[in-house]
Amino acid sequence: MGNYDDVYKGREYSDMIAADPQEAKGLPQAIERLRELAFNLWFSWNHDALQLFESMDPGRWKALGHNPVRLLHELEDPQLEALSQNTDFVERYRQVMLRFDTYMNEPGWYSTNYAAEASVQIAYFSAEFGFHESLPIYSGGLGILAGDHIKSSSDLGLPLAGVGLLYKKGYFTQKIDASGSQQSELFPYDFEQLPIRPVLQNDQQLTVSLDISGRTITVLVWAAKVGRNLVFLLDTDHEANNDTDKALTAQLYGGNQDMRIAQEMVLGIGGVKVLRALGIYPNVYHINEGHAAFLTLERLKELLHLGLPFHVAVETVRSATVFTTHTPVPAGHDTFSVGMVEHYLGHLFSELPKHKQSIISLGLDHKSGQFNMTHLAMNTAGLRNGVSKLHGQVSREMFKEFHGHIDASEVPISSITNGVHLDTWTAPAWKELFDRFLPGTWRAEQSNEHQWAQIEVIPDESIWKVHQHLKEDLVRYARNSLMEQRKRNGESEERIEEVRHYLNPKALTIGFARRFATYKRANLIFNDLYRLKKLINNPERPVQFIFAGKAHPADYPGQDLIREIYRISQLKEFLGKVVILENYDINMARYLVQGVDVWLNNPRRPLEASGTSGQKAAMNGVLNFSVLDGWWEEGYNGMNGWAIGSAGAADWAAQEKENTKAIYHLLENEIIPLYYNQGEIPHQWIGRMKRSVQSLSPVYNTHRMVQDYTNLSYVPTAKRARLFVADNYDVATKVADYKQFIRSNWHQVRIMNIDDHADKSTSDVPLDEIPPSTKEITAQIHFGPIWPQDTAVEVIYYAENGETWEQKIILMAPIGELIEQSQRFQATIPSHLVHGPHFSIRVRPISTNFAHSFELSLVTSTLS
Ligand SMILES: *Cc1c(COP(=O)(O)O)cnc(C)c1O
Repeated sequence: MGNYDDVYKGREYSDMIAADPQEAKGLPQAIERLRELAFNLWFSWNHDALQLFESMDPGRWKALGHNPVRLLHELEDPQLEALSQNTDFVERYRQVMLRFDTYMNEPGWYSTNYAAEASVQIAYFSAEFGFHESLPIYSGGLGILAGDHIKSSSDLGLPLAGVGLLYKKGYFTQKIDASGSQQSELFPYDFEQLPIRPVLQNDQQLTVSLDISGRTITVLVWAAKVGRNLVFLLDTDHEANNDTDKALTAQLYGGNQDMRIAQEMVLGIGGVKVLRALGIYPNVYHINEGHAAFLTLERLKELLHLGLPFHVAVETVRSATVFTTHTPVPAGHDTFSVGMVEHYLGHLFSELPKHKQSIISLGLDHKSGQFNMTHLAMNTAGLRNGVSKLHGQVSREMFKEFHGHIDASEVPISSITNGVHLDTWTAPAWKELFDRFLPGTWRAEQSNEHQWAQIEVIPDESIWKVHQHLKEDLVRYARNSLMEQRKRNGESEERIEEVRHYLNPKALTIGFARRFATYKRANLIFNDLYRLKKLINNPERPVQFIFAGKAHPADYPGQDLIREIYRISQLKEFLGKVVILENYDINMARYLVQGVDVWLNNPRRPLEASGTSGQKAAMNGVLNFSVLDGWWEEGYNGMNGWAIGSAGAADWAAQEKENTKAIYHLLENEIIPLYYNQGEIPHQWIGRMKRSVQSLSPVYNTHRMVQDYTNLSYVPTAKRARLFVADNYDVATKVADYKQFIRSNWHQVRIMNIDDHADKSTSDVPLDEIPPSTKEITAQIHFGPIWPQDTAVEVIYYAENGETWEQKIILMAPIGELIEQSQRFQATIPSHLVHGPHFSIRVRPISTNFAHSFELSLVTSTLS
């Protein structure tokens, strides 16, 4: 068995992963290592590896859903033998394996930049992971983001392991019937046929057990290899469990609240147990969305069992936890009734009866009386972040009450904008262009914008050729998908045949694909069918739309959207020009984001925390046409796509009206004319494609994102976590005791005798000089038993900044002695403030051991 160093370094762990049960069958020696390749998701972002598998049997490759493990299992010996004799195949195989070995062994960005931080260990917990269509344990953006995060972590050499759930039936398969209704189907997967392997301990598949609502549940542990990193996947389908418990991990986002809380316990509590069983003790735990927050309770329990006092245990947990929130509306957060939490976590509470109330209050939302997973994560994570600048702002507003009376701008939730894995999402033909025209380091140093300037020298003809090919691929793919759908729905021969003429590879093609959640407003473009009809049917300048997306089986309004779009797609004027494809997945996403001309995105602002499909499109020269929400608010620069509507706030109805108008206006006056304004090669359009790739690729990739997480979150957190536990939890104890002391004595802090000496020095200034428009403020602070050095005394005022008022904070300096626990403080601020209360003074506790400024939500202020 490998120890945790092996796991993180990603090389020697192979002996802890079970062999393929069909290994005995043996591959011919010349191509023996194909099995190793099939069980490492590295293949999913390496086109030559994918092509190698495809070329073994193109028909089967497609029929088996691009699953290399099944492909190897199903190919017969003579076929394998023939391939091993085929010199071309064997040569390509050698090349791929050479690249694979080089990749696995090269030092990454992390070891070059953080040589001194070799003991950082990160565990990344997420309820879903989207790596490749052959491993269906994702539903949408959150999962793809997690998958892309792991891929870039591997590329960069990060010491990171993933923890997730293995869903027996994955997420549902979507079919659209002849009436446009979504049918959801679930198939049990055979885990032996997926690119994952059991984790072994003493020659047995590793299991861990945990208590859920009074029952002991056994969990099987699997691992997916993702380049150099491992992702541990938990599965409750074990013979020791009863049928209900076996089905706990049957479906992603299936079932009711009971299923949900149990799944989240398996993920969080079971996940920590898996790490322990493998001897892994991370110093950074990343909670990717609230689903995984129970991990903090398992860690709390471990520390309490070691004998740490509760408040010290919480500080220790917090020092090593980081939390990424993805949900910009309170209603989107996972909540459970307190009664449910008491029931499901009963075992924990009977072990720790003294701490029951304290544990519950870590997740309690006092307003609703519910146990809220986001609150739990907020209270137990030292660092928290949203997933775009705008979403950071929205989250700071949303969690204002967590930190007492402070301005939203100061709420300690930062933002790290999402990205996508460039190598996964960029079409091979584009990558070939980059290889030819960009510096050789464009891939490794993709977040360096200078790498991308050379995009200018790529001839327009080459770009257009690549783009047109990808569009033709998409049209072919879409026609096939529609024909299969109609055949299955038993439609007439004529209806099936007419699909051959659907979609025009020369027409301006607009794509819209994502989950059919109502806030994404998939039907917005249909608000004025008459106007749209004219655009679509203009014989000189035709426009066509491709839609795709699943609605959650319990989301009936979402399913209505699918029916509505389907109905419109069947109207005579739209037939073959508006199409909706079934079963959106990673495979289809690749065709769409690589093959359309324009990527449409029109959510209700600000409900799209980031959005990532537009980033995938951008890397392929597809132009974004999007509401200024999520990542696009910061990505749009006026030249790299189009913005729908304004960035202002408005109610939903007003937004809908404004956005609809903007969509038609931009289509009619800018997008369509630009696309059609030249002959064979639309140079101006291609110019915009270049602006898009050049400005967006260096920023909205997961290398940049993972580097940000490393620099701003992981490394500082690992340092704090190590500091906190050193010398028998010395710093954790000091911080916890300090907080306790401050909490119980803070009420004695008082602000007194404020003096506001306006323009004191003005009279000394000669008349021809502009008087210094400042004023001096002093105040007497009474500290009680609190040491003044443990506080910051600040003056706060608002300064005009364009249209808005911005909060300014100035630290006040002590003047004079500390006498009878009181001291005078002084600061200078501009004196021309005319609006509102001119300023306020506040005192807050500080400590160099705090992860952020408001760890204690105690602020004494002259304003409340
Ligand atoms: C990228 C992706 C998403 C996320 O799309 P958004 O535009 O961020 O909503 C969802 N599903 C699949 C299959 C994807 O590839």
